Amino acid sequence: MVALRAGSATDVGRVRNNNQDSFLEADPLYAVADGMGGAAAGEVASALAIEALGNGFANSGPPTADRLVEAAQTANRAVFDESIAKPEMRGMGTTLVAIALVEGPDLAIVNIGDSRLYVLRDDELRQITLDHNLVAEMVAEGRITPEEAEFHPRRNIMTRALGVEPEVPVDLFTEPPNVGDRYVLCSDGLPREVSDELIGSILRRFSDPREAAAELVAEAVRRGGNDNITAIVVDVVDDDDALPAATDATSALPAVGEPLPPAPETTEEPPKAKKPRGERPKTRSPLTIRVVVFVLVLLIIVVAAVGAIIWYARSTYYVGLRGREIVIFQGRPGGVLGLDPTFKKDTGYSTADVLPAAVPALTAGQEESSEASATAYVQSLVDSYRQAQALAAPPTTTTTTLPTSTTTRPAAAPPTTKP
Ligand code: MG
Repeated sequence: MVALRAGSATDVGRVRNNNQDSFLEADPLYAVADGMGGAAAGEVASALAIEALGNGFANSGPPTADRLVEAAQTANRAVFDESIAKPEMRGMGTTLVAIALVEGPDLAIVNIGDSRLYVLRDDELRQITLDHNLVAEMVAEGRITPEEAEFHPRRNIMTRALGVEPEVPVDLFTEPPNVGDRYVLCSDGLPREVSDELIGSILRRFSDPREAAAELVAEAVRRGGNDNITAIVVDVVDDDDALPAATDATSALPAVGEPLPPAPETTEEPPKAKKPRGERPKTRSPLTIRVVVFVLVLLIIVVAAVGAIIWYARSTYYVGLRGREIVIFQGRPGGVLGLDPTFKKDTGYSTADVLPAAVPALTAGQEESSEASATAYVQSLVDSYRQAQALAAPPTTTTTTLPTSTTTRPAAAPPTTKP
């Protein structure tokens, strides 16, 4: 069996006031995050990403490459949610590079941003990850040379970062776990000061991964320390040489030391010519269970909303007019979102059976909570009119006792009676 043995180091450098890098050593998972954002936001972003990645990877089932990608997405969401929730954190983000020993056994590597992962294999140092920054993409497209890139004024502009949007494309690489291979995860503070050649030479000089990591960081500080610097050196070793790995990668595959053909670039290697961000075929899309859950939740919300609207539109009655007839409708006057009221009942009365003052309310529609109360309302209008008529019609000649409201109607009109 193979296992991993690692050492790490970090330093604030000589220029910055705080260290916005975070890292994780949680065998079999190792990660570096380089935060960005004003004030404390960069530190928060990288720390949140590291925490969420570690929890996401550790919390469910056996370690696989897919789970590492999922954990990176979880980390993205954690940082994004926090930046939305707290105005002072708005716009924060972080890089994330991580390596894990997963089922296969394989080494799975995920990357977002411009932190890096190198491998020292057969005495040769090679960068596995691609920097998601403008200048690196210009080099990949052949627009500038790697030499021009080193001093390019826009080399700090990242084209992809974790936590800036709800979803982020995650680069995934897989490597065979060859005993003797040495991996280095680092923030950009290391390659900014230390050439690949010198990184390789330090890695050859120090066999203990803790000493190698410490020396890489110390060298970057000596050479300027213009940024925070973090490095993790991860050695692939025989199980006997390391503490028992916390992996249950017990497949029937030949274990250890039986390397696959020399470093095939794996299916995850991207094409040489880079497309604009997020469009390369190797990128894993996060369309998974979460999308299905999202659609289901959306569906439930839509059904509930439609139900509520129908209930609202139909739960009441009103007294209105059809021509001059007074009728009862179910629904709301004018309808609700295309749900028109429906005719419920003819009351047998017309506008001639009520006081003229009551007609405008009927024209607009008088809402009542039930059919019975609507009926009662109509009856009360009719009763009011009849009382007024009774007062207006006595054989005496004076009408001075009439309520004022009846004066709008000619007192001489005969009371209308229902058939
Ligand atoms: Mg940095």
